[in-house]
Amino acid sequence: MIAGRGAETAESFELLRRFAGHLDAAVGGTRPIADEGWIPFENQVGQTGCTIRPRICIALGVSGAIQHTEGIKDTKLMIAINQDEEAPIFQIADYGIVGDLNQILAEYLKEK
Ligand SMILES: Cc1cc2nc3c(=O)[nH]c(=O)nc-3n(C[C@H](O)[C@H](O)[C@H](O)COP(=O)(O)OP(=O)(O)OC[C@H]3O[C@@H](n4cnc5c(N)ncnc54)[C@H](O)[C@@H]3O)c2cc1C
Repeated sequence: MIAGRGAETAESFELLRRFAGHLDAAVGGTRPIADEGWIPFENQVGQTGCTIRPRICIALGVSGAIQHTEGIKDTKLMIAINQDEEAPIFQIADYGIVGDLNQILAEYLKEK
């Protein structure tokens, strides 16, 4: 799972961590998320971070800048949630959900 700046509030990050816990998923992030201390720098994904090759990657609030997508291009199945339907991440995603990640994650977790 990748956290982007769209998940950069305490409320969003708590939802994201709970969601990752339900899926038993590791949490990486974009550079702004690492810069702000939401994740350790070693979990930053991209050109100046690490490269990942997961079977499934869920990008939450990630715009899809080239410096970031360099690190996820070998992902087998990409799912993106972003409130901006024009976000570049949707160009590389296999499945996309346009919407507020807070609402989507809260709805998912309510069912658990
Ligand atoms: C030399 C160089 C090296 C770099 N190396 C890296 C690197 O290794 N890794 C990296 O990640 N970046 C790197 N960057 C930075 C990169 O260019 C981008 O600035 C960065 O990836 C953007 O991170 P982001 O997608 O989290 O933030 P943003 O670009 O700010 O995108 C946030 C996204 O969240 C969405 N959003 C906001 N609120 C919500 C919500 N409530 N629900 C759903 N969606 C929401 C917005 O629509 C937006 O698309 C580098 C830049 C340079 C110049």
